[in-house]
Amino acid sequence: MGIIINKKLLNQIVHEIKKYKEIVIARHVGPDPDAICSQIALRDSILETFPDKKVYAVGVGVAKFKKFGILNKVNVEELENPLLIVLDVPNMYRVDGIENLPYQSIIKIDHHPKEDIIGNVDWTDTEKSSTCQMVAELILYTKLKLTTKVAQNLFLGIVSDSERFSLKNTTYETFDTTKELIKESGIDFPSLYDALYTRPFSEHKFIAYITNNLTIDENGLGYIKISDEVLKEYNVDIATPSNLINGYNFIDELLVWIFITEDVKNNQYKISIRSRGPVINEIASHYHGGGHKFASGAKVDSMEEVDNLIKDLSKACQEYGDKKL
Ligand code: AMP
Repeated sequence: MGIIINKKLLNQIVHEIKKYKEIVIARHVGPDPDAICSQIALRDSILETFPDKKVYAVGVGVAKFKKFGILNKVNVEELENPLLIVLDVPNMYRVDGIENLPYQSIIKIDHHPKEDIIGNVDWTDTEKSSTCQMVAELILYTKLKLTTKVAQNLFLGIVSDSERFSLKNTTYETFDTTKELIKESGIDFPSLYDALYTRPFSEHKFIAYITNNLTIDENGLGYIKISDEVLKEYNVDIATPSNLINGYNFIDELLVWIFITEDVKNNQYKISIRSRGPVINEIASHYHGGGHKFASGAKVDSMEEVDNLIKDLSKACQEYGDKKL
């Protein structure tokens, strides 16, 4: 069975892109490799296909992701009614770098459940492994150009968001699209794993810290509270726990696990949650959060809220366990 492509929708996206001289591509705050790589790959592909356009990938950069490509600084006042392309985020309040942007139209491409952003051309598909998979399909099945660099970034985003094709979001289409990327561009994919997974020794020690300090309760909920002091001790940043949380996917005793990281700058706690069974995004939505059924995040202001979230997740684990009996 081949991959089913909605060519009409993909052509609508390209048609919209063609109409605008200036295009701003944005994604969510606190970007992960899927967000950054989809943004940079789409920018580079549009520029390769339409060299006369001005295309900007915006938002705050992350030092360790600079190797994927450099983001653009843009003065919004100098833009005249640009097209806004929003990738990998369903809620406007989490889009990074578009304050005061006088955009005319929105294209949205995303694999999260729908929230308040509705694109004038909207491609939302929660069955896709990653936004990079979607951007890859857009490029592979339209006249947008694929270069080796574009394919490399898309490969990295797919591998990262599917945790090396191991998560529930991986389908035969994920493999099919990835195969086409490799075939069409000749990328040397084994070397790309280096870019994604080689980390400093201090980060490995931090992983050991999490493993040693993760509490697992009787219902299969694992949780850890990571203080700012600990982040400093291991020389890691506030985004690091979310980048590591998928690595805890294969622990027998865990059904759901949650990393709570102190965010001193914003006087908040940054929450990452993953699940091997219970649906967690609904629970996260009660704590200023959201995400996918089995991979969610949230932000809370107090330890009291953190403890309530832990209780709710533990209850969900218990109910899930009871149903399975
Ligand atoms: P993370 O644990 O940060 O990798 O996030 C996992 C998923 O939850 C991603 O799809 C995020 O887009 C989503 N997410 C994280 N934080 C929030 C938030 N505060 N509000 C809504 N969705 C979030």
